Amino acid sequence: MRLKKSFYIKTFGCLQNRADSERVKAFYWNRSFSEVKDWKKADLVIINSCVVRESAENRVYGLIDNIKKFDKKIKIVLTGCLAGLERAKILADKVEILPIKEISYEIKPLREDRETALIPISFGCDNFCSYCIVPYARGREKSRKEAEILKEVDEAIENNFKKVILIGQNVNSYAKGGFAKLLAKVAKRRVEKISFVSSNPWDFSDKLIAVIAKHKNIDRLIHLPLQSGDDEILKKMNRKYSAKQYLALVKKIREKIPEVEFSTDILIGFPGEDKKAFANTIGLCKKIGFKLAYLNKYSPRAGTVSAKLYKDDVSTEEKKRRWKVLDKLINKKLS
Ligand code: SAH
Ligand code: SF4
Repeated sequence: MRLKKSFYIKTFGCLQNRADSERVKAFYWNRSFSEVKDWKKADLVIINSCVVRESAENRVYGLIDNIKKFDKKIKIVLTGCLAGLERAKILADKVEILPIKEISYEIKPLREDRETALIPISFGCDNFCSYCIVPYARGREKSRKEAEILKEVDEAIENNFKKVILIGQNVNSYAKGGFAKLLAKVAKRRVEKISFVSSNPWDFSDKLIAVIAKHKNIDRLIHLPLQSGDDEILKKMNRKYSAKQYLALVKKIREKIPEVEFSTDILIGFPGEDKKAFANTIGLCKKIGFKLAYLNKYSPRAGTVSAKLYKDDVSTEEKKRRWKVLDKLINKKLS
């Protein structure tokens, strides 16, 4: 009898990648591979990569080099966001590239968590925020069919999952305005808690607010990436709202759902973010009172508009300083 081959999977980055990895795992299990928890013992190492910041991309190259140094016979499969970029081709002699798009949604995921089911509802992004590489790495936004998503939700419920997270780069543009309808259908099912990430300020419809208000099993912590509280920076970022519009949206949601709380993403040190612009971000954060913020220091990504047009002119020290200011204000609640 031939011994089973083994794989190890390393997942970098966001929830979307974690959800994808659960399918990649199932893909290899279905091909009679078994999973090991130490890459040194694996025949095959799968790297589900992230390229959103330079440091994340460098960790992928570092891991590839370490594996090759340790044992040339270990096969490496590269998937995730780096696999979607042209520059992955330079790795062709070291790794096999598996475009994540080739992992079908028909594969039933091997879920890591026993309580929360991660369920992708769309893939890719059409927004082209000027700093962001995701639209290049993942391509244009494609929504999954509603029936397919609901089937996955129902299967998760049958398997005793209590919580569901609906995942996409911009969930509220799902099926051109169909997100409120989808969310209502999920909420009517026997799920204790439904969350969704990421939703963006420009597509947050009144209908969506009404659905959240009506269904108490929809998470009252809403993730709403702000990125900056300064109108000029927001414009250069190609985000489609002003600070005033963001604040008005938060107020409107709070009126309809008084118990709601917000978490956010903030991009620190975008080119041209001077003291005044940063002060505008602080000011807006104070007005909103976020429960939690994911703070990201700007890192120019080759291929994006901002890397082409603007100099990365906020120093690393200043980015660190601003990071600490916001972390204290929002995450540690010290003003
Ligand atoms: N679609 C989601 C997530 C995008 S990537 C959204 O719109 O929010 C996740 C986070 O990474 C972003 O919110 C942003 O804050 C950060 N990010 C994206 N590009 C970046 C870059 N070039 N440098 C640093 N952080 C970046
Ligand atoms: Fe990137 Fe903007 Fe798309 Fe989010 S919405 S993935 S930040 S381009």
